Amino acid sequence: MGVEEARTGEAYRRFDIALAEEDRRSTQRKKIIFAAVFSAFWFSARYIFEHPNFLKSTFNKASKELLPLLWNNEAPSSAICPQTTALAPVKNSGYLGTLEAEYATEEFRLQAYESLGGAIRVPTIAYDDLAPPGQDERWEIFEDLHAYLEQRFPLVHQNLNKTHVNKFALVYHWQGSDDSLKPTLLTAHQDVVPVEPLTVDEWHHPPFSGYYDGEYIWGRGSCDDKPGLIGTFTAVEELLRIGFKPTRSVVLAYGIDEERGGISGATAIRDYLLATYGENAFSILVDEGGGYRVTDDVIMSTPGVAEKGKFDVRFEISAPGGHSSVPPEHTSIGMLAHVIKQLEDNPHVAHLNRSGIYYNLLQCQAAHDPGLSPRLRELIQRSLKSHLALSALEAELAKSDRLFGALAGTTQAADVIRGGVKTNALPEHAEVIVNHRIDIHSSVGALKKRITAVVQPVAARLGLDLDAFGETVVSNAGQESAGQLKISDAFGTALEPAPITPMGDSGPFKLLSGTIIGVLGASNRTGYDKKTFIAPGMSTGNTDTKHYWKLTKHIFRYGHINSADSFNGAHTVNEALRAEGFIEAIRFFTWIILNADESPLLE
Ligand SMILES: [Zn+2]
Repeated sequence: MGVEEARTGEAYRRFDIALAEEDRRSTQRKKIIFAAVFSAFWFSARYIFEHPNFLKSTFNKASKELLPLLWNNEAPSSAICPQTTALAPVKNSGYLGTLEAEYATEEFRLQAYESLGGAIRVPTIAYDDLAPPGQDERWEIFEDLHAYLEQRFPLVHQNLNKTHVNKFALVYHWQGSDDSLKPTLLTAHQDVVPVEPLTVDEWHHPPFSGYYDGEYIWGRGSCDDKPGLIGTFTAVEELLRIGFKPTRSVVLAYGIDEERGGISGATAIRDYLLATYGENAFSILVDEGGGYRVTDDVIMSTPGVAEKGKFDVRFEISAPGGHSSVPPEHTSIGMLAHVIKQLEDNPHVAHLNRSGIYYNLLQCQAAHDPGLSPRLRELIQRSLKSHLALSALEAELAKSDRLFGALAGTTQAADVIRGGVKTNALPEHAEVIVNHRIDIHSSVGALKKRITAVVQPVAARLGLDLDAFGETVVSNAGQESAGQLKISDAFGTALEPAPITPMGDSGPFKLLSGTIIGVLGASNRTGYDKKTFIAPGMSTGNTDTKHYWKLTKHIFRYGHINSADSFNGAHTVNEALRAEGFIEAIRFFTWIILNADESPLLE
């Protein structure tokens, strides 16, 4: 047993003692309540005897409000994270059967791997400093991708109506026979992040090779997000090939710069879709995002139903210049250092929120994942009612889960710093940009208030005038000011946390959940013969969907990728996807189109 484990053991013993103490107090409370209720009945007996109607109303009240206090039962787990059953097409079952058989053939698989490989070989890189489409020749590579798609997916291009939006973003409309049904919207992005030139040597296969080595498909975009792009194209192409004609229209939309915030692509797609189809015109939207994880006991699938907000804040200090040989106590750079230190000394504290998505996910794990440690399961389940268990759970996760802070709170990271031009000149200007990811229970406004409150004492101490988000907070009017600290939205791109996608009994949630359970249940991959459960997911970043809130309330960030099929993750060296996993994504897109086409769960 290592020191760390011994410490953990000691911490558990302390929790155990505390929990036992809480149990004792709870029993005592129950006894007191029981005695009080019993006395009330006793002393009221005569009154009740004389007023028979009163007896009835008192009994009702007691049974509804007081008795539950005596039994502090935890709800059964099935009520905590209810699950739907597998959903497979009925009317369209013939089409599904035909394609499932085809997708299982070696011939189809190799062809699909090559489709993805070919798309990876077109390096559609989204650079941060791209000028708008039409004003920057680096966009032109997207034309090569479009030509490739036309050649590789001829039936899609013969049968669907294609629209170029802001030149390079693409929207395809597949007309259904019943216009009263809201279309299904599937989205993905065509762009990828650049490859750091210094890391090219570290790649097992060249980053834009799209090489299939017998197990993996290699290259930038193989995980993010060309499986979404090529997976949806492949599913539609195959459905067309076997003669499927949709009842519900299907719309496909592909952004061009998701990796820099969707400023040219997703915004233009949003405007086009709103103008063409209207607000809330889509029954469901599925974009990249969550996936599933196969464990020894179960498969857990986590479609993203929430997204954190984002806020880049600029802290600028302006101070008098002069010769460095006669410096003040603090230069603007020194003062900026105080500001950064103050921010880092006052980090945002992450908390488990019982109504939060992350907490909901933990409850689902406790209810459905037999592989969870009994200790953690007990803590998660007890935390529903016990504040002490909730704090213990927080402490446990903060220690064991690297992502806890990011999933359960707002984060801050000082990412960009500038200031000073010459060693013999005092810097007149220094600035830092701090990136924040806003907790789904917070807001841009609350963050602004907190930042101002945290920084204000430093500004006062340094004698700086403080202008926080357009308001003068500390003014040294009348006294000599050491300079000014100005806090502002760095790029005017503050983003509130996304609206949370309806879950539970919501039709689209049931449709997606049932589809995922169906696809995994019917998979012939080794190790997939297990129960699947759905838990709500939340990414710490954003996707193009941050621009799509008005298109539908039913937004799911879900690409149906097994986390273990990614060789090394996205946005890094050796991005590669296990080829078999890509077939599962194609199966998912096929199932969701067919299920959505006939299901009464959608509007
Ligand atoms: Zn992506």
